[in-house]
Amino acid sequence: MATFRFQALSEALSRKPLPIDYPDVKASNYYASSVFTQNVMREYLPGDVYKTLLKTINEGTTLDRQLASVVASAMKDWALTKGVTHYTHWFQPLTGTTAEKHDSFFRPIDENRAIETLDGDNLVQQEPDASSFPNGGIRNTFEARGYTAWDPTSPAFIVSKTLCIPTIFIAYTGEALDFKMPLLKALNALDRAATDVCQYFEKDVTKVNATLGWEQEYFLIDKALFYARPDIMMTGRALVGHNPAKGQQLDDHYFGSIPDRVTAFMRDFEIESHKLGIPVTTRHNEVAPNQFECAPMFEEANLANDHNLLLMDIMEKVARKHDLRVLLHEKPFPSLNGSGKHNNWSMSTNTGINLLAPGKNPKNNLRFLTFFVNTIKAVHDNPEILRASIASAGNDHRLGANEAPPAIVSVFIGRQLTQMLDSIEKNVKAGKMTPEDKTELKLSIGKIPQILLDNTDRNRTSPVAFTGNKFEFRAVGSSANCGSAMIAFNTIVANQLILFKKDVDNRINKGEKKDEAILKELQKLIKESKKIRFEGNGYSEDWVKEAEKRGLPNLKDTPRAIATMKDKRTIELFDKLGILSPIEMEARHEIELENYILKLQIESRVLGDIAQNHIIPTAIKYQNILLKNIKGMVDVYGKDAKKMASTQYQLLEQSVIRLNELKKCCDSMLEERKKANKIENAEKKAFAYCDKVKPYFQEIKYNSDKLELLIEDELWPLPKLRELIFTK
Ligand code: ADP
Ligand code: MG
Repeated sequence: MATFRFQALSEALSRKPLPIDYPDVKASNYYASSVFTQNVMREYLPGDVYKTLLKTINEGTTLDRQLASVVASAMKDWALTKGVTHYTHWFQPLTGTTAEKHDSFFRPIDENRAIETLDGDNLVQQEPDASSFPNGGIRNTFEARGYTAWDPTSPAFIVSKTLCIPTIFIAYTGEALDFKMPLLKALNALDRAATDVCQYFEKDVTKVNATLGWEQEYFLIDKALFYARPDIMMTGRALVGHNPAKGQQLDDHYFGSIPDRVTAFMRDFEIESHKLGIPVTTRHNEVAPNQFECAPMFEEANLANDHNLLLMDIMEKVARKHDLRVLLHEKPFPSLNGSGKHNNWSMSTNTGINLLAPGKNPKNNLRFLTFFVNTIKAVHDNPEILRASIASAGNDHRLGANEAPPAIVSVFIGRQLTQMLDSIEKNVKAGKMTPEDKTELKLSIGKIPQILLDNTDRNRTSPVAFTGNKFEFRAVGSSANCGSAMIAFNTIVANQLILFKKDVDNRINKGEKKDEAILKELQKLIKESKKIRFEGNGYSEDWVKEAEKRGLPNLKDTPRAIATMKDKRTIELFDKLGILSPIEMEARHEIELENYILKLQIESRVLGDIAQNHIIPTAIKYQNILLKNIKGMVDVYGKDAKKMASTQYQLLEQSVIRLNELKKCCDSMLEERKKANKIENAEKKAFAYCDKVKPYFQEIKYNSDKLELLIEDELWPLPKLRELIFTK
């Protein structure tokens, strides 16, 4: 009897929402209370140190060791008032999650006395014994040292009783081993390039921040059911399971009322997020049953990314408290929508302008058009880089599965803006423009704010969509570090803005007026980037064909998508802008391949185990029941048994066929896995896993699901998909 499954189900069904009694109803009262904010700094630091630290934060100037000690001491004093005992350098190794190693403030100073201390050196730099984090060959065992270094632009915060100091993670030889360091470099490159271009429009702009507003999708399932499914527990997704008769067809979950248990969980993790200064404001049900989303107010991209990583961590912790498990995997259930993490992206100046928001007059709209068109051109020139930045084994199940943006990168801008770009393409004259030409253009450019107001056609099938005052990169995976996508996006836009500035300056130097030079350059970019724009249904077969005709890449899986990291052009682009050196790029490619191989290897093993230990024995048990029955039928009916027990014979035969087929697939998968494991070259190995091992997943699942349908419900040992997704 499948007792474990039923035990888990009854446990899950008996749970009650956890009461959340937080004394303060008003989030404003405790918002950011666990953050070393600028207000706290002002309170705890001497005035001159505070000013220098602000300069470091805002302008990236270095902080000398002496001042670092003062800051460290202040951080410690503040943390002690909150009952904190330990501190940690919090970093983002290329595993995709965050890492920390805790040290105590406590130091014995002689036999019977001790103090609490944090000195400047420990704030600024640490050497975690981190030799087992992925490094792509950068650190061989002789050079296993890597160190973490303080990122003062992201404030320190307290989780439980630990002060967390955001840091970058680098090899002893200086190469980045994390997402944060190249992200900071990409943001810096964008800042410089965008600030330069801003000079055409606003002389007082001295800094441009990339802004990021992520939307985090996730599934929740009960703890007991989670542990009763080895596949979900080990890989984050259901490797087998027949589609429930009712899934998301009725769309009755979307924006529906949130179950009480889930509301309690959300309330709890929102409180924890708010204490950490994560501005989470939105929550709702998603399309699939038991799928949800939360989103914050957007922030400067580096901070926003830290906050997303922190949020994922908090969600998991808080879920445990509620006897729930969060599934951040991109595709936890085969028949349901997967989860993504839309990255809403824009650029904002120190003077308070959103560079992707149309302004109130033609001049501001020319500025808007400049950044808008350059972003499109950047995507047009670098679709492979964007595709690679979101590639992962998990996301492969989502992209192109008719529920998420396809693997083909395109840009959606809406009908009105398309008309606008068409009109610029047509109306900007090649030669010198007459005053009438210019007036006409200015008039049409001036209309942008009005047309955008009713720009409500939101195309949900596009990987990159313009949504009124920002671009939304929708293909990012739900479990991903946004850093990867944001490094790519900011780098390609920075590069494009640099090229644009050079070309416009050339025109101006040749005597063209500034506005005319900009318009002519924009016209050129509009023409050149036309093929990346697509307004139709990105899920359709027609688009796949059309994209192929247009010459747009369609990289369907991770090994193919990340191959671009080996392209000379990619390597040069990231090197030229100082984001990633060729060695760092090579290492990252290697690490991505490793991650991919390991994920598939684990999935393949778990699937093999489930088949062997759960499915096959269950099928045999069921066959025994049938055999016993058939024997009895033969005793009673003799020759007529075939007819009288035709159903039993049929069930037996079908189950025998499926069982043998399942076993055959498992054996073949094992063979292929053995062959793949012998391959030394990481890229070849990844391709072997992708093309030779992975196809068996589908076959095994198919046969297992058929058995699930055939076999008596009581005998089935694994919680079924309907139980996983509908149990609140
Ligand atoms: P949806 O895409 O679900 O319809 P919204 O359009 O309301 O949602 O916004 C989605 C996200 O976009 C929010 O997290 C919001 O903070 C973010 N956002 C809004 N403006 C900007 C901006 N200028 N830069 C980056 N993100 C932004
Ligand atoms: Mg969105």
